[in-house]
Amino acid sequence: VDTQQKNSFTSTCCYCGVGCGVVVNREKNGTVTVEGDKAHPVNKGMLCSKGMNLQYTVNDKSDRLLYPEMRYNKNMPRQRVSWDTALERTAAVFSTFIKKYGPESVAFYASGQCLTEEYYVINKLIKGFIGSNNIDTNSRLCMSSAVAGYKMALGEDSVPICYDDIELADCFYVTGANPAWCHPILWRRVEAHKAENPDVKIIVVDPRVTDTCAIADLHLQLNPGTDVTLNHAIGRVLIENGDIDLDFVRNHAQGFEQYREVVFQKTLAKSAQICGLTEEEIRLAASYIGNANGFISMWTMGLNQSSNGTNKNLSLLNLSLITGHIGKPGSGPFSLTGQPNAMGGREVGGLSNLLAAHRNLNDPAHREEVQKFWGGTVISEKPGLTATEMFEALNDGRLKAIWILCTNPLTSLPNVRMAEEGLKKAKFVVVQEISNKPETLQYADVVLPAATWAEKEGTMTNSERRVSYLHKVIDPPGEALPDAEIICRFAQKMGYRGFDYPGFADIYKEHTQLTAGTNIDVSGLSYELLKANRTVQWPYKSGEVGDGTARLFTDKVFYTPSTKAIIHSPSDEVSSEQPDADFPLILTTGRIRDQWHTMSKTGKVNKLKKHISQAFLEINPADAERLKIADGDVVEVKSRRGEVRVKATLSPGIKQGVVFLPMHWGKILGSDLNRANNVTSDLLDPISKEPDFKFCAVEVQKY
Ligand code: SF4
Repeated sequence: VDTQQKNSFTSTCCYCGVGCGVVVNREKNGTVTVEGDKAHPVNKGMLCSKGMNLQYTVNDKSDRLLYPEMRYNKNMPRQRVSWDTALERTAAVFSTFIKKYGPESVAFYASGQCLTEEYYVINKLIKGFIGSNNIDTNSRLCMSSAVAGYKMALGEDSVPICYDDIELADCFYVTGANPAWCHPILWRRVEAHKAENPDVKIIVVDPRVTDTCAIADLHLQLNPGTDVTLNHAIGRVLIENGDIDLDFVRNHAQGFEQYREVVFQKTLAKSAQICGLTEEEIRLAASYIGNANGFISMWTMGLNQSSNGTNKNLSLLNLSLITGHIGKPGSGPFSLTGQPNAMGGREVGGLSNLLAAHRNLNDPAHREEVQKFWGGTVISEKPGLTATEMFEALNDGRLKAIWILCTNPLTSLPNVRMAEEGLKKAKFVVVQEISNKPETLQYADVVLPAATWAEKEGTMTNSERRVSYLHKVIDPPGEALPDAEIICRFAQKMGYRGFDYPGFADIYKEHTQLTAGTNIDVSGLSYELLKANRTVQWPYKSGEVGDGTARLFTDKVFYTPSTKAIIHSPSDEVSSEQPDADFPLILTTGRIRDQWHTMSKTGKVNKLKKHISQAFLEINPADAERLKIADGDVVEVKSRRGEVRVKATLSPGIKQGVVFLPMHWGKILGSDLNRANNVTSDLLDPISKEPDFKFCAVEVQKY
């Protein structure tokens, strides 16, 4: 109440999944200022460079979309129209396609940046009323391998651990992640813990030397793609050394015998050779883990964004299971969420193969339960199209219409030129956006202006299951509307009942009611409670008091049918596109410290360009010398799918034979030749359907 009287409002940073608390001040001139929330349990007032500059992205309205626009055919320019006209026309087109070609002829492609309420109403609309599961989000590009791994090993997509476990752990295994740049405030806690406790061991697994390696006791600079082999080899040494938790393995897990057979199939020498490491390095990693009282694994895109992403996740989860480091303080497998509310999206079933509140789409009883709750049509048992599949389906005509909101797929999708061809062929494209910059707009038949962060209220869930309420601080510009309101207005134009919510609190209430009785039960949450408590970790049942549930599985009862955790024995085969004579180098992609996604927000802040201002290719000096490339030369990176032209940065920190491109740049900032996804591979993990952003074959030449 106090903060509101001062025109100051609590909120949560809208970038990464760390979920730092901020205070947003509404100034007299209508602008906002942002500061870290000292009372917030996650960041205690600290913010990274991106969070510190949030206000500039909100205050700069120069690129904002202000009014709905529409065209009646592809040859016409779009014109400003009223909300009613835009939504009635869209409803008419969607209805026609659904009637003529069926409910699977339309799709929604959304974002891990959507608020939970937004995810909820989109899912309800397409799954519960249109009658298809064609809703996917850019979380498919981000966390879907982690979701698959958790479900297969623990029974549900459940992060068992919390940030407070950091100070209780004495060994960290950070793999496929650069949290020093990508989850900075979380990493500051690990750095502070290490500084106070120098005996704490930190193992970093990455083909590149990153800032995260600065405090590593051991950097395992493995060959790209060999993570399963490495994790199996560590598992083997843990077993050989007797560093496993026999009670846990016998009484609370299943699958250990088969796992032991599989990890002993390769000698340590063979595994070390495959990974490009020494046996001593692998033994040292295993000894750090084996001697730990509290062991935390942390990972993100390096494991998830892979055609073997689910297997990589399973092999990593095994290290926590065989050592019994789960469900107790200071221990557990911790997937670091890339986006601010990927977790909230997963709660409402916001992917094409999920159902609300972690229910199973392939379970008829679960589908019936949700259908009855919504009172709409029969929920289809057929999983919908995933992110990349949607654009393939536009290409071959299966999909007629796509509605893209809160994301810029023409920079972020792999093999992006294929995706662009899909949009060119689409019969009808709706783009719901805040900015006039994204490349998708040139293909839009209808443009719907959306409100951005601080211009709308709602909830998000961070990496540690912490739900927070975000206040609306200022009005959106022009006629822009909150995303959930746009979807609800559209649903009503389609003639569907159940979308006339009096307010966003009522959407949230409906979501919480749908979770009642499930393992992610948040039926005790409401806007009032979240405003009063600031944040709460789920589950949080009706009638509960306090701050929620810090850790899961403390009773060692898992969500599998047997109630035991499952130790899988994943194959270590690498299915990525292998280098050959024509494309001899391996390309991997990733983030830089001060930019976010496709830069439609952070790209507006000059201060954030000071760190790195343009796309680049990181290459090992030995490879550069062989290719006659000097630091700063413009180089062309080619794959079977396209090319990129950027300046070379020579770095001994990247493994020989591997090159790196940042993923942020695209046409938004000029030419599309700096767009990493011109060359990346759209091979998918067969289970999670997550693309292989971290591995494809390329050639590099001086341009
Ligand atoms: Fe925002 Fe993540 Fe930085 Fe925290 S660490 S301020 S959530 S970008």
